[in-house]
Amino acid sequence: MENKNVRTRFAPSPTGYLHVGGLRTALYSYLLAKKYNGSFLLRIEDTDQTREVKGAVENIINTLSWAGLNYDEGPGKSGICESYIQSERLPIYKKHAQQLIEQGDAYYCFCTQERLDKIRESNEHEHANLSAGHAGSGNFSGAGYDRHCRDLSKEEVNKNLESGKSFVIRMKVPLEGQVTINDLIRGQVIIDYKVVDDQVIIKSDGFPTYHLAAVVDDHQMKISHVIRGEEWLPSTPKHLLLYKYFGWDAPEFAHLPLLLNPDRSKLSKRQGDVAAEDYRAKGYLPEALINFLALCGWNPGDGDEREVFSIQQLIDEFSIERVGSSGAIFNLEKLQWLNGVYIREKSSQDIKKYIENTLGFDFKTNFAKFDDTKILKLIDLYKDRVKTLQELLDSLKLFCFGPNNIYNQEAIDKWVTSNTKNHVLSLIEVFKKEENFTHDNLASVIKTLAKDLGIKLVDLAQPIRISLIGTSASPGVFELLELLGKTESINRLNNFIEII
Ligand code: GLU
Repeated sequence: MENKNVRTRFAPSPTGYLHVGGLRTALYSYLLAKKYNGSFLLRIEDTDQTREVKGAVENIINTLSWAGLNYDEGPGKSGICESYIQSERLPIYKKHAQQLIEQGDAYYCFCTQERLDKIRESNEHEHANLSAGHAGSGNFSGAGYDRHCRDLSKEEVNKNLESGKSFVIRMKVPLEGQVTINDLIRGQVIIDYKVVDDQVIIKSDGFPTYHLAAVVDDHQMKISHVIRGEEWLPSTPKHLLLYKYFGWDAPEFAHLPLLLNPDRSKLSKRQGDVAAEDYRAKGYLPEALINFLALCGWNPGDGDEREVFSIQQLIDEFSIERVGSSGAIFNLEKLQWLNGVYIREKSSQDIKKYIENTLGFDFKTNFAKFDDTKILKLIDLYKDRVKTLQELLDSLKLFCFGPNNIYNQEAIDKWVTSNTKNHVLSLIEVFKKEENFTHDNLASVIKTLAKDLGIKLVDLAQPIRISLIGTSASPGVFELLELLGKTESINRLNNFIEII
C-alpha cells in the first residue's frame, strides 16, 4: 500500500447500540491509521434526526474508549475541522448542494410523497412482473425515482420555490454508462448507472442525506481511506460521482465483508448479542473482543496459525490486502476461548479492579463477609476456569452466598449414594474437632477419613463440593474449605444433609 498521509474515520450513526460489526469497522480503520502513523477520526453521522437515539453518541464514545480505539480527531477533540458532528455542519452541506445546483449536477425536486409512493408501487409491480418472467416495459432500472423534476425549466423551479412548495435536492446520475470502483478488498467492481437512483442529497427538512454529508466530510477531513461495511458498496457510485462533480480526488475504498452467524446467515440480534456493550457487560475483556474482531475477516497469512494478537501486533501486522471478501463467521466459542486466554493473563488484582471500575460491581457491599485478601484468593482460584468475568462473578457469588438449597441435580445423581449422608455426618464430626482449618491440614484430615470410611477420596470430595457451592464443578475442595472457614463450611454441610 502506498504510504501516503493515512487518515481514516469511523462514521457511525447514533441510532442505538454499537454493533460489533461497527466496532470491527472502527478497529480496521484504527489499525490502518496507526500502522502508517496516521490519524483515526470519529465522525458522528446524525443527519437522520428521526433515527437518533438519546445517549447513543456517549455510548459510541465510551465503547470506543473501552475498546482502546482512541480517536485523534472527533467530538471533544480538536482537529482540522471545527466540528465532527454532522448536525453541527449543516451550512457546509447546504453550500455544497447549492454549488451542485448551479453547476447543473443537482436539481430541485418538488414531487409530493403521494406521487413518490405511486412510483414506488408501480416499480414494485414491474419488478414483480419481471421476476415472474412477464415481459415488462423492458427498462426497469431498479432505481426508484422517475426523474420527473430533472428537466423542469428555470421558471418552473423559481415559481415553485417562490410559492413555498416543499422540495428536496437530488443529484443527477448519468442515464447510461458504468462506473468502476477499485475496491481495496474486492478489486474492480463495475456498476451500471442504470441501477443508480437520482439520490436525494438535501431532504425536505433541509438536512443533507448521508451521501452528500459523508462525501463533503470525507473530503474536508482529508480522509485517505474509507473503510466501511459492504452494505455501502451500492452507494459508492453516487459518492464517486459527487467527488467528480466537486472536482475532488476520491479516497480509497475498502468494503468489509458482512459478519455472519455460523450458519452463514447475517449476524442478527435474534441469534445472540450484536451490541459491543453487551459483550462488555457480560465480562468480555476489550483485548479479547478486539483480538477476535480483528480475525473476523483478516488473517495474518496463509499457514500462519497464530490466533492471539496484542493490539500492537495487530497494528504492526494488519493489512487491507489480507482482508477477505467473503463473509466472516462470528464464532462465539472462539471469542470465549480468547477471553479465557486474556483473563488468565491478568493478575487477580487487575481483574478485581476491572470488575469494579468497568462492570461497576462493588465487592465491599456485595461480598461484605469477605475481605480483599480472600476475594483476591478466590479470583485466583477461579480465573483459570472461566470464559467470562460474568461467569467469574457468578462463581464468586455462589461461593459467597452458598447454594441456598439449590443443588445441581446431575451432580447429585452422580455423586450421592445411600451412604453419603453418613459420610458427610462423619466429616462434620471431624471438622468440629478441627482447630487447624487450613488447606494442607484439611487435605490430610479428609484423606484419612476417606480411608477410614473405605471410600475413594473423590466420593467424599464431590459431595463436599456440592454442599459448599451446589455443584461438583469447582476449584480445589481444600482451598474452598479453607477460604470459607470452619463455621460456614459446617453450616453448608449440615444444610446439604437435610435434603439428601
Ligand atoms: N453512517 C454510516 C453508518 O452508520 C457510515 C457509512 C460510512 O462509513 O460511510 O454505517
